[in-house]
Amino acid sequence: MTESQLSRLLTGLPLPAMLVRNGDRVQACNAAAVALLGEGMVGRHPAIAVRAPAVLEALTAATPDAPPQDARMTLRREGQEQVFQVTVSALGDGLVLLVFRDVTEEERAGEMRRDFVANVSHELRTPLTALMGFIETLKNAAKDDPKARDVFLGIMEAEAGRMNRLVRDLLQLSRVEAEERVRPKEPVELRGLLQGVISSLQGVAEKEGDSVLLTGDTVTVPGDHDQLVQVFTNLVENALKYGKAGQVVRVTLSPEETVRGPAVRVEVADEGEGIDPVHLPRLTERFYRVDTHRSREMGGTGLGLAIVKHIVSRHRGWLRVESVVGEGSRFSVVLPLG
Ligand code: ADP
Repeated sequence: MTESQLSRLLTGLPLPAMLVRNGDRVQACNAAAVALLGEGMVGRHPAIAVRAPAVLEALTAATPDAPPQDARMTLRREGQEQVFQVTVSALGDGLVLLVFRDVTEEERAGEMRRDFVANVSHELRTPLTALMGFIETLKNAAKDDPKARDVFLGIMEAEAGRMNRLVRDLLQLSRVEAEERVRPKEPVELRGLLQGVISSLQGVAEKEGDSVLLTGDTVTVPGDHDQLVQVFTNLVENALKYGKAGQVVRVTLSPEETVRGPAVRVEVADEGEGIDPVHLPRLTERFYRVDTHRSREMGGTGLGLAIVKHIVSRHRGWLRVESVVGEGSRFSVVLPLG
């Protein structure tokens, strides 16, 4: 291949690419490689541009008889760590081609998937271990003890209920994620919907001696009725769960002007213990809880707010959390009208 053909080849590649001659001189770079590694690389030693030992090793080892090799390289750019997969192929005549592919997002997604699977397994294993322990006890020690049997069956029921809620929330989350790109369109009347949510939680509120107060005018938004029921059920349920006994939970509907046009804001405010600001940015992550023990005790799965976030984002809205420790928390959902 002539010089000009090689240079055209590099220009035609959609990824950063670099040609190295005899392992010690950068012959050419395309514009994407210059943007990635900086100007003035041509004619210099490749180690100046590429500092990753794995890539330099692959460069030295490359021969036209062997298949191309992949090596990893990390770069710090604008304070962020980026991971590249560098494919090193010997072309013959002492020429080696390096192609750089940014795999930062891929690696992060893989890591999140692994964390998620580990979390789910752990969350399921805890109640399962308890169930297996009690089954064993019922088969042996407690076989002829009706009193103990009743106690154990009660605990087993609670543990099975926990597994059931977890699976229900996981399925819900995956359904919402699958549809997240499709914005729902059916008209949903919010005041009536909120009234329904509050009625269905009346029993929970009464048990705590709480009351729930709804204010605001009727308004209709484009949405998915059942999913919005889920959003406000989770928020009001949390307000009741994490609020102090005998409190008033206020659900307020109000119009809001946003940069993207008119919207409605639904605020759920409790008089609870509040949330320390350090937790706020992570609150909607799956399985993130301020107090794991407390959440479990109250039947929480740690998925409620993750579900809320995904549904709200499917509605092209957003969730805002404000909280003062010792005073209470305010969860606001803003939903665009148009
Ligand atoms: P959980 O099933 O644990 O309630 P969520 O995703 O609904 O899961 O909430 C995550 C965590 O956020 C909870 O464990 C709790 O620590 C905190 N939280 C949620 N709502 C409130 C609230 N109204 N007041 C105080 N803390 C809250």
